[in-house]
Amino acid sequence: MLEGKIVITCAVTGAETTKEQNPALPITVEEVVRAAVEAREAGAAILHLHVRDASGRPTQSVARFKETIEAVRRKTDIIIEITTGGAVGDTAEERLRPVAELEPEMASLDCGTVNFGNDYIVNTLPVMRQFAATFHDHGVRPTLECFDLGHVYSSLTLLKEGLLEGPLHYGFVLNVPGAVPWNPDNLEAFKRAMAPGSDFTVMGIGRSNLSAQYGAIAAGGWIRVGFEDNVYYAKGRLARSNAELVERAVRISKEAQLEPASPGEVRKHLKLRG
Ligand code: ZN
Repeated sequence: MLEGKIVITCAVTGAETTKEQNPALPITVEEVVRAAVEAREAGAAILHLHVRDASGRPTQSVARFKETIEAVRRKTDIIIEITTGGAVGDTAEERLRPVAELEPEMASLDCGTVNFGNDYIVNTLPVMRQFAATFHDHGVRPTLECFDLGHVYSSLTLLKEGLLEGPLHYGFVLNVPGAVPWNPDNLEAFKRAMAPGSDFTVMGIGRSNLSAQYGAIAAGGWIRVGFEDNVYYAKGRLARSNAELVERAVRISKEAQLEPASPGEVRKHLKLRG
């Protein structure tokens, strides 16, 4: 825990969200850079990054990630956490290539197989071992994304096998259709199963997002907001920008006497390569 602080991650684009759902969705490199700068100015310490190709489809292209990461770094000191989730059908090698070749400070590591709406995410233990070993070799801090309670236990298997080393940071993804709903009991079960002393960020998908932020604060966790998880500010009212969602997360955190941590504080706390 970072005493008196909360770490806010902003997931500005994601793989699934479309401009039809929210016209303010950042897709191009320029749009993503602007969203990252605004999110940082609003109080986010971590940018969770997906990239899209010229037609707006999600891609794990190393060149696209490189261009985007370099452009973000020129403008802001926000920590960059790239996705390794990829798109349905990508091989493990394709999903991992940006981690191995670009060595970002952080990246997501999906901890198991799960329903994802009408699709599904597949991560066998051998694939997770391959991911964890690659992250380790390249000094990339994983966010251990858990969509199911079994995923938290799978992370403990990796830990026991020496494939993960602390400080551990979990991302609990709740309310994905077909997976675990957001509620305080489910969050508590995830939290209790994780390796003691770990940090965790709560990601409430869709309409659960705001309630999950309050839940994260109450449980001593961190917050994720952004168009990947939710495009609304309130029922029937689209968010004007990712930054607008960060601004509210900062307001409610401050009401709970928590100051948003700076990227520098998070780098030190999570022992990022920097
Ligand atoms: Zn993502």
